[in-house]
Amino acid sequence: MPHVVRFVENTITFPYVRSLGPVTGAFMTALTDKRILGIRNGDAVLCPPMEWDPATGAELPHDLVEVGPAGTVESWTWVPEPTLQHPLDHPFAFAFIRLDGASTPLLYAVDAGSPDAMSEGMRVAPRWKGERIGHLTDIVAFVPGEEPEVDGEDLGPASEPVELMDYLASITYRNPVPPTSDLVVEASREHRLVGFLCPECGKTYIGGRGVCPIDSLEFGAEHAIDLPHTGTLTNHVVITPVPYPGQTETEPFGRVFIALDGSDATLGYQPIVDMSVDDIRVGMRMKAVWAPADEAVEDGGGMGGAYGALIGWTPSGEPDVDDPDLVNRIF
Ligand SMILES: [Zn+2]
Repeated sequence: MPHVVRFVENTITFPYVRSLGPVTGAFMTALTDKRILGIRNGDAVLCPPMEWDPATGAELPHDLVEVGPAGTVESWTWVPEPTLQHPLDHPFAFAFIRLDGASTPLLYAVDAGSPDAMSEGMRVAPRWKGERIGHLTDIVAFVPGEEPEVDGEDLGPASEPVELMDYLASITYRNPVPPTSDLVVEASREHRLVGFLCPECGKTYIGGRGVCPIDSLEFGAEHAIDLPHTGTLTNHVVITPVPYPGQTETEPFGRVFIALDGSDATLGYQPIVDMSVDDIRVGMRMKAVWAPADEAVEDGGGMGGAYGALIGWTPSGEPDVDDPDLVNRIF
């Protein structure tokens, strides 16, 4: 593997709104009123309440009953170094808490200060947020003792039943950036399109790829060659943007694949510049468009589309190439 000196970090977030239904909705609504509900299942009381009997799958009657707010710790584990995904930013315990009147334990954070303060059988009560929205996180944490607390000013219960919940699913990932990618971006600042010529297979690769995919030969500056700034459009896609957090596109936009002249390389998912998506067609002759030399360029670490000062491609004005094999050029 090539020597990796740095990573780029990317986050994708998918927003959802989910409907809560009659049982979870009632549970969330009660939370805004600092009340915790369970549901009767025969002689048992499930908390958090469920719509179905977890053992048989049978639908439960909506017989909700208030439990807690205090409860007893049945088991616990200490979290000495919380991460961003944890409910508290300082060390705490995750505990199974059986709220008074409930038959099942609720898994929740206990803000006890130290593991020495935790024990099986200890009594805990909720610390509520002052402003409650109808979400489980309306409970900041449980704290030792019998008496519930409220953080800050108590703004009271929700005026309407809570029926929907915003939900953001996020994933953050880190991609290694090979040194060849940095080299290519750096060359782009001089409006040079640099590829790498593999001495084993004799093929040329572009886009900052760190190794020859055929021979696994690691590329370095000694393999760099300057490539022409013209090529032929081999494939394309037109994307109609949908709104999501971070989306900056509002109009349909095109991405094209360019087979560079005199090389074996295809540049994938390239932006188009000064042309309509309606005019994109396979076989078009294209030329590179560069950012002005003095303009700061974005460095995405080689992630997606054009890179560095190469901002996209525009028709060169030459006649189209008529070759049915062009569409097979995707790499
Ligand atoms: Zn090779």
